Amino acid sequence: MVTVSGKNVYQVVIIGAGPVGGRLATELSSRGISTLMIEEHAEIGRPFQCAGLVNPPAMKMVGLEDTILQNVDGALIHSPSGIMVPVGKDGRTRTHVVCRKRFDQGVVAQAMESGAHLWLLSKPIEAEVTDECVNLKVDREGEIVDLKCALLVGADGAHSWTRRYFKMGRPKEMMVGFQTDVSGLTGKDNWLEMYTGRDFAPGLFAWVIPTGNNTHRIGIWSRPQDLDGKSVEQCYNDLISHPLWSKRFENVKEIARYCGPVPCGVIRRPYKDRVMVIGDAAGMAKPTTGGGIGPGFRQIEAIIEKLAYCIGRDKLKSSNLSSVCKPFKSFKKEQDRARALRDLLVTIPDDDELDSHFRMFNRPEVLDLINKVGDIEHPVPLGMTLLRKVPEFRKLALKAGFKLLFA
Ligand SMILES: Cc1cc2nc3c(=O)[nH]c(=O)nc-3n(C[C@H](O)[C@H](O)[C@H](O)COP(=O)(O)OP(=O)(O)OC[C@H]3O[C@@H](n4cnc5c(N)ncnc54)[C@H](O)[C@@H]3O)c2cc1C
Repeated sequence: MVTVSGKNVYQVVIIGAGPVGGRLATELSSRGISTLMIEEHAEIGRPFQCAGLVNPPAMKMVGLEDTILQNVDGALIHSPSGIMVPVGKDGRTRTHVVCRKRFDQGVVAQAMESGAHLWLLSKPIEAEVTDECVNLKVDREGEIVDLKCALLVGADGAHSWTRRYFKMGRPKEMMVGFQTDVSGLTGKDNWLEMYTGRDFAPGLFAWVIPTGNNTHRIGIWSRPQDLDGKSVEQCYNDLISHPLWSKRFENVKEIARYCGPVPCGVIRRPYKDRVMVIGDAAGMAKPTTGGGIGPGFRQIEAIIEKLAYCIGRDKLKSSNLSSVCKPFKSFKKEQDRARALRDLLVTIPDDDELDSHFRMFNRPEVLDLINKVGDIEHPVPLGMTLLRKVPEFRKLALKAGFKLLFA
């Protein structure tokens, strides 16, 4: 950082020191680009709103294996009437469960080790974009500070100030998630559980995730339009008291509870002159699982070389950033296709239809296919294979073809 006429000057200011802001700050500062992260909270990784699943490719990028609480080899997926489909294989890690606080802190620490600066208890109040720079007013621990940067990046989460201030639109879907940390539950080691059913998880699903030391996370997410006036908290109560599952949850003791938004649908233009948004701020979470850390990291990986080049040459007009952000178009397409298949196979069907899907999933040859082709990161190839190869799904194939064509 340098100070010019009383202003702090950085090449890049990132609003939000979550995992995506922290990761971008590491990549920029390790390329010699002066970077400041601005975080409104007093501490990184709080408040916590996450099931803590981090996929192996994302974990490999940051090497924070010491934050893993539990590895997960598979999922036991339950239909509305209780048909259980196991997907996965013992001993083959599909995903990791992390302590989100330690994970976020680890990512941000890496950024600082690479030379990035961090201001806690700070948030932007005003921003003005000129031909030469972005002038920012920041509330830093109650004091108003002037900042100047070449590029402003919003990595400030689902309700992004940056996205709203610069009128960049809204993600296509904004799901609501609710979760508790509990003790008193037992289950298959290294396997998570998923539960479907209109009574408690309309349109999507509920989950139980082992977090080590005999603790679990129980959560639910849904689209607001499917909730029919109910809160996700009510849905959670309906799950744990459901006639089919109440025995499963009878000894649960709650340790913590939290609620949060999940934005799924990359906004059309996540950039303007000298401004861009990434991660949840740009709507990167997956419409099939709600996971946003892996997609956010992939987003950075896809643009970093070109972005660093443009910052180095001060080519940061909307037209330059449009070219930098070109890979986001294929992410958006992938999200749209995944959403179309999710709608067809999970969100739209009523409980009877879902049950009939589960009966098909549970046949040995279909399970074999799911375990071979299934990849939670890229659900479209599996969906397409099921529609092509499972005779009973073929009647859905025409609908799917139509939806995917227009997705
Ligand atoms: C219930 C639930 C469960 C989830 N489970 C998973 C999961 O298992 N795996 C997964 O990958 N994803 C999960 N997600 C989604 C995941 O939490 C997000 O996709 C991920 O945190 C996105 O990272 P981010 O850095 O873009 O945004 P965030 O993690 O939201 O970070 C944004 C940061 O910006 C700060 N900030 C916001 N506004 C300002 C401001 N005006 N000024 C300064 N700072 C600001 C915030 O304090 C925060 O530190 C879940 C979400 C919910 C709600």
